[in-house]
Amino acid sequence: MTHDLYPHLFQPLDLGHVTLPNRVLMGSMHTCLEETGDWDRIATYFAERARGGVALMVTGGMAPNEEGAVLPGSAGLFDAQDIANHRGVTDRVHAEGGRIAMQILHAGRYAYSPKAVAPSPVKSPISPFPPTALDTAGIEKQIADIATTAARAREAGYDGIEVMGSEGYFLNQFLVTHTNKRTDEWGGSYQNRMRLPVEVVRRCRAAVGKDFIIIYRLSMIDLIPNGSTWEEVVTLAKAIEAAGASIINTGIGWHEARVPTIATSVPRRAFTHVTQRMMGEVGIPLITSNRINTPEVAEAVLAEGCADMVSMARPFLADPAFVAKAKAGQAARIAPCIACNQACLDHTFEMKVSTCLVNPRACHETELQYPPTDTPRRVAVVGAGPAGLSTALVAAERGHDVTLFEADTQIGGQLNMARRIPGKEEFHGLVDYYTAELARLGVTQQLGMRAGAADLAGFDAVVVATGVQPRDPQIPGQDGPNVLSYIDVLRGDAPVGQRVAIIGAGGIGFDVAEFLAHQGESPTEVPDLWAQEWGVSTPWEVRGGLAEAGPDPVPAARQITLLQRKGGKPGKGLGKTTGWIHRSSLRMKGVTMRGGVNYERISDAGLHLSTGEDRQNPEVLEVDTIVLCAGQLPERSLADRLEGVETHVIGGADVATELDAKRAINQGARLAAGL
Ligand code: NAP
Ligand code: SF4
Repeated sequence: MTHDLYPHLFQPLDLGHVTLPNRVLMGSMHTCLEETGDWDRIATYFAERARGGVALMVTGGMAPNEEGAVLPGSAGLFDAQDIANHRGVTDRVHAEGGRIAMQILHAGRYAYSPKAVAPSPVKSPISPFPPTALDTAGIEKQIADIATTAARAREAGYDGIEVMGSEGYFLNQFLVTHTNKRTDEWGGSYQNRMRLPVEVVRRCRAAVGKDFIIIYRLSMIDLIPNGSTWEEVVTLAKAIEAAGASIINTGIGWHEARVPTIATSVPRRAFTHVTQRMMGEVGIPLITSNRINTPEVAEAVLAEGCADMVSMARPFLADPAFVAKAKAGQAARIAPCIACNQACLDHTFEMKVSTCLVNPRACHETELQYPPTDTPRRVAVVGAGPAGLSTALVAAERGHDVTLFEADTQIGGQLNMARRIPGKEEFHGLVDYYTAELARLGVTQQLGMRAGAADLAGFDAVVVATGVQPRDPQIPGQDGPNVLSYIDVLRGDAPVGQRVAIIGAGGIGFDVAEFLAHQGESPTEVPDLWAQEWGVSTPWEVRGGLAEAGPDPVPAARQITLLQRKGGKPGKGLGKTTGWIHRSSLRMKGVTMRGGVNYERISDAGLHLSTGEDRQNPEVLEVDTIVLCAGQLPERSLADRLEGVETHVIGGADVATELDAKRAINQGARLAAGL
């Protein structure tokens, strides 16, 4: 059966012993859920996604043994109790009509543990622990442990396994001379270097039998110096097929690569041409991956013959019903993953359970629910930024009668500024989503109206989500014509000179620097430009796919200095997994970043600085424009005036410090869940 809107996406995929109903895989994500030990919560998380219609899901990586664990204590299938716990998950998934494969992840030298093992003792730049080189018996043990884990996965009721062979993990480490310096039968020639992954797949197949899915995740572009050539990648793919894999999934870039591969500034479907090159080389289905986040993009990828199936991971945190909504012709209702990493990967790297910026229920399904209300109330929400929008949406979904007041003539609040930054175009989709959902849910919208206390009389509850106002840094001379606030700049209606100083190097200071440094089209919208900016080639042109010339960004439009008072490197407080991208991007464009300065005053000559507590080393930074990005304070003037009505203050109006859309949306949703 085909589907009118997405004929390729909804085409079944015959794997021999089983037929998948569509071409969507929920890719593996490490959410830290398994480490909670709360198996009802884990099963509920996967069951909800199975109900949403995805053809096949892959769990987060399970360790095959102690030495292969990403961290000491990482989850795995080690004993009968583990198997019983996982059986609880697979039963719930199957009860929803879904299918699930378990990923087996051996971290090798990426293990954050003194027990790390690897082909050779080459320390990784992302772990402090030098690995121990395995001897022949040690290698045999790793293969046996992986195969045993595969057999246990079958016992636990999984429909298949995914063997993690990419992203620079253990199996990948054998493939390239960068990490494999061996001279025995496991090193040297490519035939020897690929022996381990091929043997692992062969032994897994022997352990699980024929009627069981084996996905092999194969690094098709390593994005590291001395990575694999395309010829080697194809040779491996053919050998993996011959060894018994059912499907090959695409891995993009090692974790130590200095090229962003999934961040929001990466163009959508930036790497599907790599998988496309493999089409026809093997007879088993190929899955492509990375920055595919709408049914339209997924359909186009399949229609163009880039792959047989698409993998999306984070989009299923944002909306478990992605596939069902696409199938029902309701793509506008899909909560979009904006690829921010703020609540998923950043949490994982902080060893916190993942969730999602746009969907706070993700991984919290058992404790955060939005049941229909028995007592509908008239709810006023003041402010249509992330906090207010989230409240309005959940309250209306539950059946409350919601009126949303917004002083601006459009909804979005700070999201409207974010979406003007080159590289943050995904925020457009988030504002569009809220626009469509508010209309669908019948929320009354009073836009262009600054609500006062009198307007709010008669409501059963008032939610004040009036956001923030810029902090006044009180620098002498800041009232001069050469000083702008970030709001003036990002709204695009203020002239900015060629030489710019930015006061404040937080999230907004970095965004303003990116905005002002930029000229021409956004590389996020033009994949070739983006590839040039980050020095990305292809593995058929150069080993590993890194351009020999290196990164070559479009020169900055202005000369920019980004400043903060505290010492140290600006940008330390940015996202754990994305901060380096912002810093590298600005550095490549020649933006100067300075910490440890005092702002003495501003004059026609520019910004007068000093350093140290005793205000030494006076200097004048000769700039034409100074932009204030000195943080935020709560905007509570309305909240302070409200009396005699149930009032809730949320978002930046509540606490402005370290405010971001993640906290605002979460707070709004949780409040509305209890209204
Ligand atoms: P912020 O991250 O708190 O940064 C404020 C900056 O202003 C700091 O660099 C601070 O550095 C400086 N500052 C504070 N008080 C000052 C004063 N009195 N005089 C001069 N400088 C002062 O705030 P933000 O940049 O406004 O961002 C607000 C929130 O939005 C952040 O929490 C962030 O999470 C979020 N956001 C995130 C992103 C992102 O990329 N993920 C992007 C945009 C916004 P010193 O005190 O050292 O001078
Ligand atoms: Fe996507 Fe951001 Fe949600 Fe992660 S937190 S799933 S990147 S929207």
